[in-house]
Amino acid sequence: MSSIDPSVSALSVWLALESPTHHTPGVNGMMDLVAHEVEGLPIAVERIPGRNGLGDSLILRSGLDNGEASVAVMSHLDTVHPVGTSARDLPVRVEGDRLYGPGVYDMKGGAWLALQAFKEVALSGTAKRPMVFLFTPDEEIGSPTTRGLIEQIGRASAAVLVTEPAREGGKIVTARKGVGRFEVKLEGRPAHSGSRHADGRSAIREAAHQILAIEGMTDYARGITTSVALMGGGTAANVIPQHAWFSVDLRVASLADGIEMESRVLNLKAHDPDVAIKISGGMNRPPYEKSTAVAGLFETARTIAAGIGFSLEDCPMTGGGSDGNFTAALGVPTLDGLGIDGEGAHTLSEYALISSIAPRRALIKGLLETV
Ligand SMILES: [Zn+2]
Repeated sequence: MSSIDPSVSALSVWLALESPTHHTPGVNGMMDLVAHEVEGLPIAVERIPGRNGLGDSLILRSGLDNGEASVAVMSHLDTVHPVGTSARDLPVRVEGDRLYGPGVYDMKGGAWLALQAFKEVALSGTAKRPMVFLFTPDEEIGSPTTRGLIEQIGRASAAVLVTEPAREGGKIVTARKGVGRFEVKLEGRPAHSGSRHADGRSAIREAAHQILAIEGMTDYARGITTSVALMGGGTAANVIPQHAWFSVDLRVASLADGIEMESRVLNLKAHDPDVAIKISGGMNRPPYEKSTAVAGLFETARTIAAGIGFSLEDCPMTGGGSDGNFTAALGVPTLDGLGIDGEGAHTLSEYALISSIAPRRALIKGLLETV
């Protein structure tokens, strides 16, 4: 046991404190751990109380106070795993190069290693700009209470570094699809399904038409996908259902496609004129496209990685959204996927690769000193 890597034992403390988004004591406990870790260092700490029953946010500031645009790091400390996951299904443990635990890959490992890099640069005074580190409590549910803060810090930054997990052997992310969410509600007319069948107007039958129409909007060639993955309706097996509902997940590759698809979904018309259709929602995260500025920042990161001794690659546009979508859509050069390498995000086999901690920590340190 004496040979345990100090990084692993420090990160294991973070994993042991379970912090699913809706468990505010856990999320705030994570913010406490971060605040405690920078005590006595040349780092200013600002804590922003949570809203809508969600956890707090934490902003660390350091580096040069020269009025220039900052370099910002962004990490979320909430996870998708309910409290009790580490006791039952995903105990915090080391197996060879793998460190297992709830949220180790998405994204406590990345948040932890980036914080170490931030502390190092704050202590050595080698930053060229003001440095900001934002820790958020609600990314896993779409950042409903922190989007404004993320955009505010993004607008004041020359570059944003997001510590979501690395992909496929350490690749980083330079483009993400945009995400839309919709709720569709249908109201028909109830009737006894045996004796008064012709009087009924089935909300579920209408939902079936609408679901097929929406799923039919998927266009892989354009990078557009639509899925209906949650639905409900009806009251009993012998009643023509009055109500039905379902939710829609939309992914798009470009801003223009987001506008077009949002309007196509919102303007769906009922197939049966006697059934009322109500559609709400829209684009949540705008697409994060690999602009020239993003490509330039990626080249800088590549040069730094080469100096450290590894070759950094980016992956093709990924389907999953992150807070990087918000800053990239503002035109702020954003790199994502800078976090820890590993596999199994949002699953009970989630793990991180211990050997990826040192090089990725060095990469973030280099970016904080170069950008
Ligand atoms: Zn994440």
